[in-house]
Amino acid sequence: PSLYVPAFQLPTPPTSGPARALQSRDHPALSQVLDADLHEVIRSTITDRAVHDGGDESAFFVADLSAVYQAVQMWRQSAMGDRVEIFYAVKCNPSPQVLHLLSLLGTSFDCASTAEIQQVLALPSAPSADRIIFANPCKPASFVRAASDMGVDMMTFDNADELHKVKRFHPGAKLVLRILTDDSKSLCRLGLKFGAPLSTCPTLLRLAWELGLNVIGVSFHVGSGCKDPMQFEDAVWRAKKVFAMGKEVGYDFRFLDIGGGFERETFDEMSRVVKDGLDTYFPKEDGVRVVAEPGRLLVSSAFTLATNIIAQRRALASPDAGPSTPSAEENEEGEGADVMYYINDGVYGSFNCIMFDHQIVHPYPLTISHQLQSATPSFPPPPNVDLAVDLPVQLGYTDVEKASVWGPTCDSIDCVRSVVPLPKGLEVGDWIGWGEMGAYTLCAASNFNGFEKSPMVWTTGGLTPNALAVRATLDAFDGPQR
Ligand code: PLP
Repeated sequence: PSLYVPAFQLPTPPTSGPARALQSRDHPALSQVLDADLHEVIRSTITDRAVHDGGDESAFFVADLSAVYQAVQMWRQSAMGDRVEIFYAVKCNPSPQVLHLLSLLGTSFDCASTAEIQQVLALPSAPSADRIIFANPCKPASFVRAASDMGVDMMTFDNADELHKVKRFHPGAKLVLRILTDDSKSLCRLGLKFGAPLSTCPTLLRLAWELGLNVIGVSFHVGSGCKDPMQFEDAVWRAKKVFAMGKEVGYDFRFLDIGGGFERETFDEMSRVVKDGLDTYFPKEDGVRVVAEPGRLLVSSAFTLATNIIAQRRALASPDAGPSTPSAEENEEGEGADVMYYINDGVYGSFNCIMFDHQIVHPYPLTISHQLQSATPSFPPPPNVDLAVDLPVQLGYTDVEKASVWGPTCDSIDCVRSVVPLPKGLEVGDWIGWGEMGAYTLCAASNFNGFEKSPMVWTTGGLTPNALAVRATLDAFDGPQR
């Protein structure tokens, strides 16, 4: 059923009390955050655009901070939650609002560059420098010096040159040896680039000792988008071996960083595997501080992108008849799209996650023939919803056709979905939604071909307990301390 809401009004933000005081401060993290359900905000923005903006069709994100809050709660209530501290991986989504909320919730941060450290330390709710780990094992020398100047001491290394660099520019650093673990079950295999093989660790640790450097422990990363929770068990076991190597050299490690790689679908099992591994190899009484660097898990569900169909055409069956379906294999199998939709964000923009992060994104109609749709998925998805199954079918649209969805640039690599079922009746001007768009999306988007990055509308998420907790957290902050 379609639902046309001609003049939906956004809830008015509070006009008195601390919330308004925050909005007046000059920092993007303190900009306006609405108090409405995510899809209410999407619908009202679409309606508002049509009514007031003469049909402004530009794509936009709605970010629901209650999903970030919920993910932090999920972490803290998990099997490992009372043991493993969060150092949020800033690279994943460095939006000031996300960083501000996380800082208020007491998380720490994993930064990969001088700019990320500066950004975290410039937050209105800036954490102290000891709540940052510089988790990039191969840093430019100038970054090491800058970290020293900013008081950031914890940093990772995985090679001998890095040790010489640190000796020269930050001799007081607290070093963490990033080891190589099995990441073969992960979407993004970080071990191709980083991590010292176990066979090299004794030599590296002896060099660090000879240089008089303070190595405090071990880190690893099982790869981003890890599909197999058991990778963590193996990695924790390897870390234990390197703790023993450290002891032989003369160190007494007290720090273990289990990296990122967590996904919502497998999180329960992962946290149990980590807990069991820690209980076995790093029992609490050993006094080892354990931290992790989750990125995707905390932000993915919080961001939904609304894109507009800017052009469409029927796909042509024969390659001779002109560009039709995106993939030769699909043509050969006779499974090409029947219709091609062109939307106003693409793989050079927010959908770069398709290229860089191996993501499959899932469209659902926000309007059909300019009628707002009430059937919308909830994010984070409930356990019985499998995002790998296409959403329109799940949402009950039976009259569907095979579509390809393309970004706005002039490049044919700019294909968002090659074949996906979408309801019939979509027209130019209709809106398509994309959930789970918070991780590794906007932060790596470009302006290629002159297309602007999609802007963000922020909401606490409405009146749910998590949303109210977010509002209470933001309102309780009484301004920058410095
Ligand atoms: N830590 C480091 C060092 C990383 O390189 C990454 C991602 O690339 C992360 C943490 C975050 O990983 P994820 O988003 O999979 O949790």
